[in-house]
Parts: sequence; C-alpha cells; structure tokens
Amino acid sequence: MTGTTPAPFTAADYSARMERAARAAADAGLAGLLVAPGPDMVWLTGYTPTAVTERLTVLVLAPGRDPVLVVPALEAPDAEQAAGATALTLRDWTDGKDPYAVTAGLLDDRGGRFGISDNTWAMHLLGLQRALPDTSYASLTDALPMLRAVKDAAELELLAAAGAAADATFEAIRKVPFAGRRESDVGHDLAGLLRRFGHSQVDFTIVGSGPNGANPHHEVGDRVIRPGDMVVLDFGGLKDGYGSDTTRTVHVGEPTEEERRVHDVVRAAQEAGFQAVRPGAACQEVDRAARAVIADAGYGEYFIHRTGHGIGVTTHEPPYMIEGEEQPLVPGMCFSVEPGVYLPGRFGVRIEDIVTVTEDGGRRLNNTSREMVIVD
Ligand code: ZN
Ligand code: ZN
Ligand code: ZN
Repeated sequence: MTGTTPAPFTAADYSARMERAARAAADAGLAGLLVAPGPDMVWLTGYTPTAVTERLTVLVLAPGRDPVLVVPALEAPDAEQAAGATALTLRDWTDGKDPYAVTAGLLDDRGGRFGISDNTWAMHLLGLQRALPDTSYASLTDALPMLRAVKDAAELELLAAAGAAADATFEAIRKVPFAGRRESDVGHDLAGLLRRFGHSQVDFTIVGSGPNGANPHHEVGDRVIRPGDMVVLDFGGLKDGYGSDTTRTVHVGEPTEEERRVHDVVRAAQEAGFQAVRPGAACQEVDRAARAVIADAGYGEYFIHRTGHGIGVTTHEPPYMIEGEEQPLVPGMCFSVEPGVYLPGRFGVRIEDIVTVTEDGGRRLNNTSREMVIVD
C-alpha cells in the first residue's frame, strides 16, 4: 500500500484533522507538531511514502499556520497524489540540501516545545536538534494520547468492516482440522483467511495451544496440536487502512470440567467489561469490571495484562483499559476488551472483542460466539 490509503476520506476531512491536531497541540502548550511517516501521518494526511528512508519526510503543523509537508524532491510526485495533499503545502528538498534547516525555517517558535511522532527515526530527531538547538520535544502520544482516539462515522464503518472480516476468519478457521497440525500451520491458515476476507496487512496470528496458551506473548510455534488442547486464537491486521483484533479460545474435542469453568469465568469477565462501557466511565472502570469477575472466581493472579487497548489506523494505540487510566470514555472511541486467565504450564483462555462507545453504552464490532467452540 503506497501513496494513499483507500479510505474514503477527502481533502476536507484531512484538513479538519490537521486543524484539530494543531489546536490540540496549542491547548497542550506545544508550539506545534512534527509528524514522521507512520500512523499519525496516515491519519492526518492519507500519505504513506513507498519506503521510509534516511531522507527526511516530516509534516509540520503549527497553530495558525498552513500545514507543510517537507518531502524529498524525488518523492514529491507521490506525496502530491495523497488524498490530503490539497490541504497541505509541499516543501521539497533535493539531495545535498540540509532538510533539517529547511524544516527549521518553517518554525516560528524556535525555542518552543514540539510534539514529535513516536516512530520518528533517531537520526532525524538528532538532525532537528542540531538545526534547532533551543527547541525541545515531547512524544506525540504522551502529549496528545487522545488525538486519534475518537473515531468519526466513516472510520467506525471501516473498523466494523475489519471486525466482520475477522469474524468471517474465525467462522472459517473453526472448521479446519487442529489435532495433528502445527500451530504454525493454523497460523498460516489464519493469515490466508484474513487476506481472503479483505485484509491488506496481517499484524499477528497467535495460536497458543496447550501450555503455550498460558503465555500471552506466544505467537506460533512448531508444537503439534493434540486432542484435549485448549487453543488461544488471536489475530488481526488492517483492512482498508483500519484494524481488526479478536480472540477466541477453542478446545480440541471434549473439554474437562475445569477447562469449562475457566472459559466461563473469562467469558463472564469479558461480558462485565463490555457492560462497563458507557460515555463518561473511566477507562480503568472497564478493567476493574472484567478483573473483579476473575478475582472473585479465584483466578486474579492469573490475569496478567491490561484489559484492552485502542484500535484505529493501528492495531494497538491509546486509550488503554488499565488501572490508573482515568480518561473518560467518549462516543466513537474504539478499543479491545480482552480479559484472560493463564495457568502456567497448562493452558490459557482469552476472549477479545473490539468495542465502540455509543451514546448510551457500547457496541461490539466482533460478534462470533463467545461460547467455547469445540474443534477437531
Ligand atoms: Zn483439554
Ligand atoms: Zn488480540
Ligand atoms: Zn488486542
């Protein structure tokens, strides 16, 4: 995917986003924002360079000034094709010129503090520091964590479509044979299905069978799946520029009573987390609601991660559903609710849906059964 995102956004949409970002920067006491290629730039301009290289590309946003995209001359034609380009001034630079001096020339407040996108290469930040010795920098995500958090109607539609494609992937994967195949084989199936249902990018295909399911960081391995295994399936990626991320835990053949009990606890915790979603509730209340169910069932020490994370043009972003996060939920926010229980050396269970905040509660963007599915 190069040049533009296929998302149905116009120059006016990008213009409004850039204006909002510049205003938010000013409200946060920043002199402006410096945005490198990556999720923030895609969201603000629709532009993704063909490759991110040592040649500086940076979007300069400052309150009360027209947005400027500093771009290597040889990439300027691509940048001009981006949907948001008409809302921007392009300032190209040719090899041999100092792009940091070009950027410095665009800043009014050279002693100010600028938000800089988290994925900016260190060499570019060092170059900017050299050209602007009195300027200081803050992580854009730390300074403006909610910049991309509230989705508009078109974004919600794209996120719902990505969720539906992930659901179709689960409906197909539950019919494939599990016993006797490697985790990596099932992971390969998942990636193929995500693509078949419209994903352009697969970010992760976690297949955690038996004891591997008890390690939430396990991706896929060579372990051969056996009858009696619990299998955690967690997969997602980008479809039309927006993310999917869902988890279901299946069992190969008939589960034991304990496996059923743990799955029931996680399902009840996921439901409680979902029920806690409403405008004005703090993010941490979603975490608390899910965690309480697991703690009350005696498995509190085995729920070893936060309850959820935001999703949008990336599959992991603010807001985070975690103790201590007091950010109130706002209609249009989108995030995962994904409690789990991990019994070391034995098995794990996680259930995850993407949820969006509505005017009076929450709406799930994943709608496959949360009952334990028995696979072959
Ligand atoms: Zn079992
Ligand atoms: Zn996930
Ligand atoms: Zn997730």
